[in-house]
Amino acid sequence: MTLTEKLLARAAGKASVQAGDNIWVKADVLMTHDVCGPGTIGVFKREFGAQAKVWDRERVVIIPDHYIFTADSKSNRNVDILREFAREQGLPYFYDVIDDPKGTWKFDTTKGVLKRQYGSQYAGVCHAALPQKGHTRPGEVLFGTDSHTCMAGAFNEFATGIGNTDAGFVMGTGKLLIKVPETMRFRLEGRMQPGVMAKDIILHVIGEIGFDGATYRAMQFDGPGVASLSMDDRMTIANMAIEAGGKNAIFPFDARTAEFVEGRTRLNGTRQSYDPVEPDRDQKFVYETVVNLDQLEPTVACHPDPGQRKPAKELGHVKLDRAYLGSCTGGKTSDFVEFARVLRGRHVSIDTFGVPATPEIVHDLQSTRWGDRTIWDILVDAGVQMTENAGCAACLGGPVDTFGRMNTPLKCISATNRNFPGRMGHKESQVFLASPATVAASAIAGKIVDPREFPAN
Ligand code: SF4
Repeated sequence: MTLTEKLLARAAGKASVQAGDNIWVKADVLMTHDVCGPGTIGVFKREFGAQAKVWDRERVVIIPDHYIFTADSKSNRNVDILREFAREQGLPYFYDVIDDPKGTWKFDTTKGVLKRQYGSQYAGVCHAALPQKGHTRPGEVLFGTDSHTCMAGAFNEFATGIGNTDAGFVMGTGKLLIKVPETMRFRLEGRMQPGVMAKDIILHVIGEIGFDGATYRAMQFDGPGVASLSMDDRMTIANMAIEAGGKNAIFPFDARTAEFVEGRTRLNGTRQSYDPVEPDRDQKFVYETVVNLDQLEPTVACHPDPGQRKPAKELGHVKLDRAYLGSCTGGKTSDFVEFARVLRGRHVSIDTFGVPATPEIVHDLQSTRWGDRTIWDILVDAGVQMTENAGCAACLGGPVDTFGRMNTPLKCISATNRNFPGRMGHKESQVFLASPATVAASAIAGKIVDPREFPAN
């Protein structure tokens, strides 16, 4: 069996499964957020009753993150619905925006968009927050009401996005009927060269197979090249499986996975036991390819979909209006570090926005010094508009007052993961997906360039 088949067989209590089988699997964690949480709660109450209790309150994780820092009253109200539900159910893992469990959330526009407006429990973008808060463990099944839930496949688990109806069912029963996906294998060999990042790997892969090339399939990334990838790198790659239509992504378990997971579960007091899945000798793949990491170049996915792959060096004719660094894919500490390496001592020539994915990342950037400046200071010095209000922000457009949202038909180079028309706001805007290094270099040049033109200072 492949890693995904082995994991699903175990979650179904079966000795073996094969692609195409319909099986009931037990969920280890159900995650929801402010966009889909209220709908999920509505389904749960409708189907299980107004007084019903969730199947396991330790396994429901609620992370408001999408439409948070906006004056839109309906968006603010969504967070209040989550708070009321968490209180009623006694949920220990609700990462509220405010500290008062009986309060209401309102974004105060008079304080501006750059200064922190959240309390001590707020966790930021769900997919980055889940591992940081100790909710990702090898061998587990994670369902989330968000398509990029597949990011947790970096930790050797089965993680996939589901709709509100399925999530309402999981909330009540702790299980779900799913079809076992076929597995595509991407064997990684070699090492990335300077200027190339994990984002380039996944943009290359999606360019190879197309934005529907993995529809309802598992994407298994393995091979000797995995050892050189950090957990952040693996998360970036797994995050974008859905941009090829993938059901899930999965990486093998190794010492790096163990170190991360054990550190985070210990730090947060979450469940520490886990049981990874190891590869079998007789895995059957529907597709196999080798990705030579040392041959990859800085890559861009052009408008209008993530499969429109081009080398960055061939896109010098694309003039830009804006650059954006942020999201679950591109707003991690390591992403900002690479962004700052290119921008240090230089200045952007176009509007450039930086939105860390979580408050912990804000803290990392504001406390790590390079010489006498913090990484945060270096980015501000370079002209980047940095906000402390960690969240999804303009990655998915959001309400019209969202920080960094494209309200006019602009061209933007972005470290986010999706670029279908209208994704970041205006439906005639164009989004070019790239690595943080390519975003930084392009922000300096005002056009798309290969980051190797701007070696780190
Ligand atoms: S940052 Fe973007 S892709 Fe990630 S969860 Fe938020 S909206 Fe979705």
